[in-house]
Amino acid sequence: MRLLECEAKEIYARYGIPIPKGVRVKAGEKIPDLAGIGPELVLKAQVEVGGRGKAGGILPATPADAARVAEELFRKEIRGVPVREILIEEKLPIRHEYYLSILVDRSTRQPLILFAEAGGVDIEQAAKETPGAVRRVTISPLLSDVPPFALRDLLGGRVKEFGPVVNRLWKVFREKDAMLAEVNPLVTTDRGVFAADAKLIVDDNALGRQGITVNRDLTPREREAESHGFSYVELDGNIGVIGNGAGLTMATLDLIQYYGGAAANFLDVGGGADQERVKHAVRLVAGRPGVSVILVNLLGGITRCDDVARGILDAGVPQTVMVRLAGTNEEEGKKILDGRGYPMFATMDEAVKAAVEAGA
Ligand code: GDP
Ligand code: MN
Repeated sequence: MRLLECEAKEIYARYGIPIPKGVRVKAGEKIPDLAGIGPELVLKAQVEVGGRGKAGGILPATPADAARVAEELFRKEIRGVPVREILIEEKLPIRHEYYLSILVDRSTRQPLILFAEAGGVDIEQAAKETPGAVRRVTISPLLSDVPPFALRDLLGGRVKEFGPVVNRLWKVFREKDAMLAEVNPLVTTDRGVFAADAKLIVDDNALGRQGITVNRDLTPREREAESHGFSYVELDGNIGVIGNGAGLTMATLDLIQYYGGAAANFLDVGGGADQERVKHAVRLVAGRPGVSVILVNLLGGITRCDDVARGILDAGVPQTVMVRLAGTNEEEGKKILDGRGYPMFATMDEAVKAAVEAGA
């Protein structure tokens, strides 16, 4: 789950990473006295999207006009996301902007620390245009400190200046179960080094350990699916997919792609799904806007096909539900759905083809 900049900064500060003075203000709240923050301010929209600055999500202000500028910012949508909270910060007298981040590198399956002299808003561009602009160091997740040799590889002659910040960010990364801990820009000023921006993504599998009870990155439908214990993912196509078991569900998606179709979402009901679970599953998948046809591909084992059939009937969704049932109580299941407008198929291949055609 991605934290807001202000949340990430509060964590960074607790780990000794200097952050600018600032206050959080929610929509509708009164702006507090800003005299103690500074003569020049920046107002930053707290939205979980990148490139806010370029999208108009960061506005300069003074304590005198901050209320008016805040109102302007609250009326905006930043890349489609409404602004519900802003961070009012002192405007730092920036000397230079650097880039620092720690992430899980999938290819080495280890944490990777990145540092660039040219930080700010266009780091991806800089990395592409100037090979070597971003320095990288792989580090064992077991180390509690970044070793001096790694700091030298990463920071060159700037170990004294940035070494402590790198080590503190490393501590954040480890203790917060982060997938990404980023500071872009990491800035230098007359008063030292500051994290001018902060991005922290906590591993979804560690939310419980981190005391995060609600995953805000999930859509309401994804959250409902989670509460039922379904694996559920939203995509951009028009075919709703229900399967049991990750293997069968993935194979179904592959076959849809193969026949030129596109799934709108997919749901894995898991093992031993009963009538009630199947009903919830079908309704959940059908409820996503843009789902024009539903494909149920279930293999009866502990799951009984007659239960599945009753669940599909109970759901009573408006879309056509294409069904492929095989395994335990297959005949009973087919009898229940027979003649009621649920096209049934003997093989997965036929079922997928029909769903793709129906959805085209
Ligand atoms: P992002 O666009 O969402 O990455 O937002 P950032 O917080 O990184 O801000 C984008 C850019 O705005 C930075 O690279 C800075 O150039 C500028 N900026 C942000 N905060 C300050 C500040 O306190 N002082 C100054 N001078 N510039 C700032
Ligand atoms: Mn940034």
